[in-house]
Amino acid sequence: MPSSYDVIVIGAGHNGLVTAAYLARAGRRVLVLERRELVGGCAVTEEIWPGYHVSTGAYLSSLMQQRIVDELELPRYGYQVDAKDPAFFSAFPDGRHFFMWQDRAKTLAEIEKFSRRDAQVYPAYEDQLERIARVLESLLLTTPPPFPPRGVLEFVDYLKLAGRLRGLAAKDVVALVKIFTQSAAELLDEWFESDQVKVTLATDGVIGANGGPRSPGTAYILLHHCMGGVQGHRGLWGFVRGGMGMISEAIAASARARGVQIRTQAIVQRILVRNGRAAGVVLQSGEEIPAAWIASNVDPKVTFLRLVDAKELDPDFVRSIRLYRVEGTSAKINLALTGLPEFKAYPGSPGPHHRATMHICPDIEYVERAWDDAKYGRPSERPLLELTIPTMYDASLAPPGRHIMGIFLQYAPYTLREGTWDELREPFADRVVRLIEEYVPNFSSLIEHRQVLSPFDLEQRFGISGGNIFHGEMSLDQMFVMRPVAGWARYRTPIHGLFLCGSGAHPGGGVMGAPGYNCAREMLKSA
Ligand SMILES: Cc1cc2nc3c(=O)[nH]c(=O)nc-3n(C[C@H](O)[C@H](O)[C@H](O)COP(=O)(O)OP(=O)(O)OC[C@H]3O[C@@H](n4cnc5c(N)ncnc54)[C@H](O)[C@@H]3O)c2cc1C
Repeated sequence: MPSSYDVIVIGAGHNGLVTAAYLARAGRRVLVLERRELVGGCAVTEEIWPGYHVSTGAYLSSLMQQRIVDELELPRYGYQVDAKDPAFFSAFPDGRHFFMWQDRAKTLAEIEKFSRRDAQVYPAYEDQLERIARVLESLLLTTPPPFPPRGVLEFVDYLKLAGRLRGLAAKDVVALVKIFTQSAAELLDEWFESDQVKVTLATDGVIGANGGPRSPGTAYILLHHCMGGVQGHRGLWGFVRGGMGMISEAIAASARARGVQIRTQAIVQRILVRNGRAAGVVLQSGEEIPAAWIASNVDPKVTFLRLVDAKELDPDFVRSIRLYRVEGTSAKINLALTGLPEFKAYPGSPGPHHRATMHICPDIEYVERAWDDAKYGRPSERPLLELTIPTMYDASLAPPGRHIMGIFLQYAPYTLREGTWDELREPFADRVVRLIEEYVPNFSSLIEHRQVLSPFDLEQRFGISGGNIFHGEMSLDQMFVMRPVAGWARYRTPIHGLFLCGSGAHPGGGVMGAPGYNCAREMLKSA
């Protein structure tokens, strides 16, 4: 183990590990310090009950950048994804159901059950989103230009950006501008008439969002979820063999092979700053580790309000970080099941629906009402539920014959108007189980173990402020040149030598590795 390091990475989330791997690949001596006993941050697999290997946080992969997968040789270190097919299954209260498949013809036949007209326009909708996603995707591994631009050279950066729109037809450019400002519901209303089709597509617009399907900006979140793919097939999402932790483990193995040292149970308490320059870190144990270059994988609020002494920062900068919004509204319930759920809307098991993301949210109004509760500080009376069963793809995650179910739900506000999450956690989960029982009678009899993670618990477990799954809201005023705050979107920070490499930097949250990759590139330019 080297006695000194060129770079310290604070946090072994997948982004921190990506930064470390790329810096080591370029010959830097890198130390990663992780507060938990395992690497991966929100992308982990944990044996929370004997024999059950649970993706306690993130549960599906799509956004992970192929370039990183290839350059860090992740398949060699065990990274493998099974594309989800069917992609979606929605069960409706009237007993009907809706599937979306990888095969477009099969999806169109499903849409036709609800609206012939929607089936006719769906290919054009999907193709337009794909054309727009392709352009925006090219920005994911790009450092945002200086903002606001000063001088001719910086304006040239913006012209180059505008040049990327060249491939889009005029109507696509109009659609792109609208997507940045519209709500998911408005976008979908322009295309479709069927409530069932609209709500199934709208779910991507509100996952992780602090807003409902009628809130401006949710159309962009919908698009954000279309930007990845599995095995080169755009838009697909998949289950990672071994759970989401295998992504992080594979990046960590690749980083170690390049010489990176990773220390777990090493809580960074303070970033040392001398004469305006990063000088190292102090651990909770009191140990001091010097390094001239530091990448923080921890979210911007923790980095600047807890790890850096306020006197080292300009008060205006501190104020803008305080204003950076991180209110989480998502919760996760992980279950161990003795068998598969029998849906009234699709009897029989195992069935194709068990391999899909299964939705419980009948229409857009239902989701908007679920959001209304959260807006006023109450967990949704009837939340939007996304159910997944990873053991349908990888049986080794659970004991023989048993299953794991992840329930990701909206909305569970971090800030409660009344009570605490310690008081509301279990009653809220009981309500969720009762809601599922409307669609799956006797669901509760299948439950062997249950773990409930409110936004407060997500904050405690994963160290993410406000329990926000993206390290900060993905709203237009906190994206691209404004992420985390205007003037500081280029991975550098006001402290010379201190960089941001986590999801609080462009292009934001999700298991994609892009902030980590971009940060390493910027550090190599500076160091
Ligand atoms: C419940 C949930 C479900 C999600 N579902 C999905 C999904 O299905 N698909 C998807 O793509 N994305 C999903 N996301 C979002 C995605 O997981 C995150 O945006 C992403 O993993 C964040 O990665 P990161 O490396 O930027 O940060 P993190 O994963 O948050 O890593 C930061 C690391 O820093 C460590 N740390 C914090 N403080 C300190 C300290 N003082 N000293 C040392 N270490 C410290 C933390 O322990 C952590 O390991 C989900 C997130 C959550 C929480």
